[in-house]
Order: sequence, then structure tokens, then C-alpha cells
Amino acid sequence: MGRIIGIDLGTTNSCAAYRTEEGAIKIIPYKGGDYTVPSIFAIDDKGQELVGYEAKRQWQLNPTKTIYGAKRLVGRAFSSDVVERMQRYVSYKIEPSKSGGVEIPIGSQRLSLEQVQAKILTKIKQVAEAYLQEPVERAVVTVPAYFSDRQRQATKEAGTLAGLEVVRIINEPTAAALAFGLGKGLDQTVAIYDLGGGTFDISIIEIRDRTFEVKATGGDVFLGGIDFDNAIIEHVLKEFASKHAVDLRTDPIAMQRIKDMAERAKVDLSSRTDVPFSIPFITMTSDGKPLDINTVLTRQLLETLAKPLIEATLEACGRVLRDADKEIDQIKEVLLVGGQTRMPAIHDAITRYFKRQPSKGVHPDEAVAVGAAIFASSLEGETANAVQLLDVIPMAIGIQRADGGIHRLFARNASVPNQKAFTFTTSSQDQDSLIMRIYQGDSDAAKDNELLGEFTFSGIRKGPAGSVNVEVVFTLSHDGILTLEAKDKDTGTVMKQTVRVSVQQS
Ligand code: AMP
Repeated sequence: MGRIIGIDLGTTNSCAAYRTEEGAIKIIPYKGGDYTVPSIFAIDDKGQELVGYEAKRQWQLNPTKTIYGAKRLVGRAFSSDVVERMQRYVSYKIEPSKSGGVEIPIGSQRLSLEQVQAKILTKIKQVAEAYLQEPVERAVVTVPAYFSDRQRQATKEAGTLAGLEVVRIINEPTAAALAFGLGKGLDQTVAIYDLGGGTFDISIIEIRDRTFEVKATGGDVFLGGIDFDNAIIEHVLKEFASKHAVDLRTDPIAMQRIKDMAERAKVDLSSRTDVPFSIPFITMTSDGKPLDINTVLTRQLLETLAKPLIEATLEACGRVLRDADKEIDQIKEVLLVGGQTRMPAIHDAITRYFKRQPSKGVHPDEAVAVGAAIFASSLEGETANAVQLLDVIPMAIGIQRADGGIHRLFARNASVPNQKAFTFTTSSQDQDSLIMRIYQGDSDAAKDNELLGEFTFSGIRKGPAGSVNVEVVFTLSHDGILTLEAKDKDTGTVMKQTVRVSVQQS
């Protein structure tokens, strides 16, 4: 069997790494010396499927059939806030699936988000196979620490669709900590501040030589580089509307051009203090006169626009430090991961907050893939990379009570793997099934959390109310994915389980 590769399946870019015969960890190069593949999928006007740079290149001309940011939508309910927000900013259509999830109509197809993610994973697999000259069938794939059970399951499923067995899902910050700390004989607590294209994660991790123990994790799934772009877009649209009384929002091609320019300007403002923001012929007046966008963006303006976003990340840092029961001076290194952390204002904010300069010890774009590959080689039994990961779940998991509250099974930051047993007693004569709704989230009201599924156990032994005890064992895997098993406590008979995952909250 070929080796297991490590894959960082990012919101904007994805990256893969592998272990060489000599035991070194290397990033798999993509065309033309690039190490990352844009996480973009498109269908062009000839009906051809494009992934990566090919998709990105034609993005402006084909905005309605170019899918990006799929990672923000995967494993989510159509009714969720994230989906609603995404609809405002993307040019492709987002529609509800039959089960209440999300589907994207594109060309003659309707793709689930798992299928879109699978297109990107297939591309990575192909690039890896061409480079390594061997079949690649297994991978360790990273996800944001903040991903729920459903988002993790969806990521595994995407792997399967791409012909990749996802042997383990690990958290991105944990992977970055591995890339930073393995082999250094450390005994210290580090913070990983990960601000990528679509999500923000902050994790506090204790490194004791080869053991990496996550003490707490948190973040904001609404927060990433895209939001910094959106802040610029909003500003430009407002300025244009007040100058020309024209709303460009209804013009997908114009919006796409503004989006591209906004991201480019934002990136340039990390190394310059002002940049021109010019887009000729963005639209026409009602009497046919062409209109241009012609303005200048300054770093100072970007910093003002981005201030609430940066503040929100620092608030999350405070919450996670409290959860980890750590003081700021106990954090010996702060690792920055994710492209958006290149913004100087973020360096400054982190330096002020943690009272130390962020570490230069990891490459913000590559550390996560490197960590995934280290872990992959540890799973393969490579002793030089042998590590022990002690990770946690990001949000509590519990059962809905009859009064609409939650009975917590696993608290936020409970360690994985983990197991809990709970005994239910039949409440009616000849009750033959047991139905339970499992939720993930930190709210005390079930309806404010995410429904993971409705589990029905059938075939309970007949008898008077209160006569049968059913023991349900809840198991959290290393991946942070939940499975359930129920058995008759007296006879030991295992019950048949059916799961209905309805994403409609009620
Ligand atoms: P990632 O998901 O880690 O690839 O991060 C991608 C995000 O980082 C995108 O929103 C990029 O616009 C942003 N990004 C990349 N380079 C820079 C830079 N030099 N300054 C600011 N943001 C950047």
C-alpha cells in the first residue's frame, strides 16, 4: 500500500505534504513551483470541469459557475446563518437539498458540498500521484478545530467520493503545533492563532516532547480573510453608490471584478501603505456612459475597516485562555497560521495582546499540511515522527430533554477519544423503540444548537413501563465523530439503530 499523505483542505487554498524515503517531510509541488492549489471548482462554457488555477483563472468571466468557499458550506443546514451570509457574497447559486442541507446547481448538475470538496481532493490526489509516481489512496485531512461532528463527517465523505480513505481527521492548529514542535524536546504551552480564508481558530496546546495536548480550542466560523475582503467591498460599493447613485450589487460580473480587486488590494496593503483601486468600465449609466471605479485604498483605512474583525479574534483568544485555565504569561510561543495573519495589524494586535512577538517557527501556508504528513507518518509507524495527540471537541454534545433543554454528554473541550454510557428506562407499556435527538453546541436550549441527528433504537423487549433498561454508549472517535450503540442492560441484546439526520431545526 502506498504512503499516507497529509492534506490541508483549505477554504481558499489547499496543500499536501508527504514523507520522503529518507524520513523528511516535504510539500508536494504543484505546477510552476506553486505549493498550493486554489480550492476552486468551475464548469466552463464548454461543460468542462476545472479545478485549482484553471478554475481561478476564468473566475471573473464565469462567476456563476465558479464555486469557491465550499468549506464554509460543507456539513451545514441551508437555514444556518453562515449559508445566509454566503449567499450575499457569492455569485453562484446556493439552494436547499432535500434533507435541508446545501446544494449547488451548476451546469446540468446539482452538487452537494461533499461532491465539491471531493473535486478539490481529487485534484490534490492526482497532483500527488503524478509527483510521487505511485497511487495515493489514504490521507490524513485537517479541518478547523471548530468543525462540528457533521462537518467532520462531511469531510470524510468527500474523501471517500474522491477515492481517498481519510484515515484520520486532525485539527488544523494541532497540525501546525506538530510542525512547530516535534523533535525539539519542548516542554511549553503554545497558542495557535489561525486566521485563514474562511475561519478563525485559536487553540492552546501543551507540548511535552512528543505529546501534544490541546487544552482548549475555540474560534469563529464566520471570520476569515473573506470577511476582510468583504469589508473593502462594502466600502467600495458605498463610495461608488454615493458618487454615481448606482448599486453594483445586482451585477455579478462587476461584483466579481470588485471582489478580485479587493483581495488583491488587501494583500498588497500588507507590504504597502496605499494602493490604487481602479477598475475601468465597471458599468454604464442609463444613457450609456461608461463608469469606472477609481479610488485609492490606504493601509490605515483597511485597518479601520478591519478593526472589529481583529477585535473579535482577540475576544475569542480571551475565552479560550479562560477555558484552558491559562494566563497570558504562561503562553511561551504564539504561532500564526493562515494567509490572513500576514496583515501587519494582526501581528501588532497579537504582539500587544500576548505581550510577545509571534513565532517565526512555522510557515503560515504550509505548517498545517506538514503537520498532517507528520501525523500520517506517525500512523504508519515511523518512529522518528511518533507522536501522541490529545485533542478535544470544540462544542458540547448532548441529548435533547423532554422540556427542550439539553442533557450534556460531553462538555466543550472534552478530550477525544471519549466514551459515555447513559441508561434509559422504558416509560410506557411494551415500548418498543427509543428515539433521541443529539445536538452539538454550547447553548442550554436544544433548538439553539446544531442537530447532529435523530437516532432511533428499535426492538426493545416487551414489558411494563419501567421494566426495561436500555444502555446507550456514546463514543467519540479520534476524529471527533460520534457513534452510538444501545443494548438491553439485562439481556445484553444490541439494538438496531436507524439515524435520521434532519438538518431542519425544530
Ligand atoms: P489560507 O486559507 O490560509 O490560504 O488563507 C487565505 C487568506 O489569506 C485569503 O483571504 C487571502 O486573501 C489572505 N492572504 C494571503 N496573503 C495575504 C497577505 N499577504 N496579507 C493579507 N492577507 C493575505
